[in-house]
Amino acid sequence: MQHFDIIIIGTGAGGGTLARKLAPTGKEILILERGDFIPREKENWDTEEVFLKSRYKAKENWTDKAGKTFHPGIHYCVGGNTKVYGAALLRMRKRDFGNLTHFDGISPAWDIDYKDLAPYYLEAEKMYSVNGLRGSDPTEPEETMPYSLAPLGHEPRIQELFNDMKALGLNPFPLPIGYRKEEKPGEAPAIPDRFDGFPDPTESKADSHVVGIKHALIHENAMLKTNSYVKRLITDSSGKTIKSVEVTKNGETLFYTADIVVVSAGAINSAALLLRSANEKHPNGLANGSDVVGRHYMAHNNSAMIALSTKPNPTKFGKTLGLNDFYFGDEDFPFPMGHIQMLGKSDAVMFREDAPSLAPGFTLEYLAAHSLDFWMTSEDLPLPENRVTLDKKGNIVLSYSENNLVGHQRLQKKLRWILEHTGGNTHLLPNNLYLGKKIPIAGTAHQCGTIRFGNDPKSSALNTWCRAHEVENLYVVDGSFFPSSSAVNPALTIMANALRVGDHLISEVL
Ligand SMILES: Cc1cc2nc3c(=O)[nH]c(=O)nc-3n(C[C@H](O)[C@H](O)[C@H](O)COP(=O)(O)OP(=O)(O)OC[C@H]3O[C@@H](n4cnc5c(N)ncnc54)[C@H](O)[C@@H]3O)c2cc1C
Repeated sequence: MQHFDIIIIGTGAGGGTLARKLAPTGKEILILERGDFIPREKENWDTEEVFLKSRYKAKENWTDKAGKTFHPGIHYCVGGNTKVYGAALLRMRKRDFGNLTHFDGISPAWDIDYKDLAPYYLEAEKMYSVNGLRGSDPTEPEETMPYSLAPLGHEPRIQELFNDMKALGLNPFPLPIGYRKEEKPGEAPAIPDRFDGFPDPTESKADSHVVGIKHALIHENAMLKTNSYVKRLITDSSGKTIKSVEVTKNGETLFYTADIVVVSAGAINSAALLLRSANEKHPNGLANGSDVVGRHYMAHNNSAMIALSTKPNPTKFGKTLGLNDFYFGDEDFPFPMGHIQMLGKSDAVMFREDAPSLAPGFTLEYLAAHSLDFWMTSEDLPLPENRVTLDKKGNIVLSYSENNLVGHQRLQKKLRWILEHTGGNTHLLPNNLYLGKKIPIAGTAHQCGTIRFGNDPKSSALNTWCRAHEVENLYVVDGSFFPSSSAVNPALTIMANALRVGDHLISEVL
């Protein structure tokens, strides 16, 4: 059996970032990834292939609590979900780390503060080439250092929207985006045609394959094995140490051992892995004496909203504007509402499924040429009954009931109001036509919370260094550790935390 100093399971935001952080230590590192590399092929930017035929999504179905099957929007590949993410990389707000009163209840405090994560947010922003403008977002937490890259410029139609919002007294800001401007002399610039939801064959998008894994593998002591599905973690007879990692690769069963095992398979799959690894000492699942593993699943209340303007919107890269004026509420509604950002620019093919019934009389091409495309995120609360379990065959069951919706509905109304009152949009199509879509259970993009961290082993599975309370050599660094989800996209917090845990491992453990 091959032995390593460290095994990292998963190459997404958590695993890919940690691999890069630990590789320069010279320790022997094995990175196990169930998926393969996404090939750089013309289909990367083909909407039909990517959106309608789900070319890069995992080929598996899960069931919901009613036993209904659905196809999750999850990606098993080197880079994990960051391979297709929109790379909007925002810090959680300072108040998100404390108890926050929402319309439906309390979003619980984390047992670390913003200041514990702040230096690692900065490190992650540099590592992931975040382009942004410090101080432009009124809710952003304190940071004296500027972003190392200037914000991506708005294209004219988005600049117009930005100016219109300003004229209303709002505070739109350049959305921080992880985008690598690495043109070399004599090379033409790479302009991303498709971005949010698509893999990027130019590798300009700062994902955890390009930024994390590729850099880790420069070091000879780091090794990646793809198509390697981790089936189980096996403990010694005391139950306190992981003795070996069981892997299925091309139908073959393999075992590896390591001093430290870091799970980073994504919040749903990491919980499933611990539940699958139940044994005599851990009858409810590995490290699950608290019974929290799999519970408190969160994925945000997310909606896409397409507003149709009479003005054409020829924007190519639309994801440059954010708005947080309603993040913590306003005078009318003193509870958090959430965050608004632009989506990637929609095209006609994306509308094929939904638009004809919603907007009869308009061609898809007309809709796409005139749409302003928004994404809204509000916090959902960590309810214990929203959870990941396994059915008798070991397949994933995701039980989720929507909650805390009032703030999200308020946010949707605010955006409509803004669009109806901005100069550039006073000529909205008849009946102020919006195509709105609340993201359903299959939209697992922002999954988190299923292996929460904290000081109390009765209510958390991990300590605040993301080490399992009950298993000495087990760490978890994907989105599972979140005790609450805030209302910003999760990836930067996952990356920053992986760097924080990496520093701890380097200075205290290795
Ligand atoms: C379309 C889309 C757009 C998004 N846009 C944004 C955005 O703009 N900003 C943002 O912050 N976030 C965004 N996200 C979310 C972001 O991608 C995730 O928050 C982030 O990738 C989660 O990181 P992770 O490490 O928790 O897991 P993942 O990135 O999901 O990585 C988990 C990895 O583990 C592997 N794995 C799973 N099970 C096993 C196993 N048993 N054995 C071996 N390997 C395993 C998977 O293949 C995968 O590579 C988006 C997501 C999607 C899908």
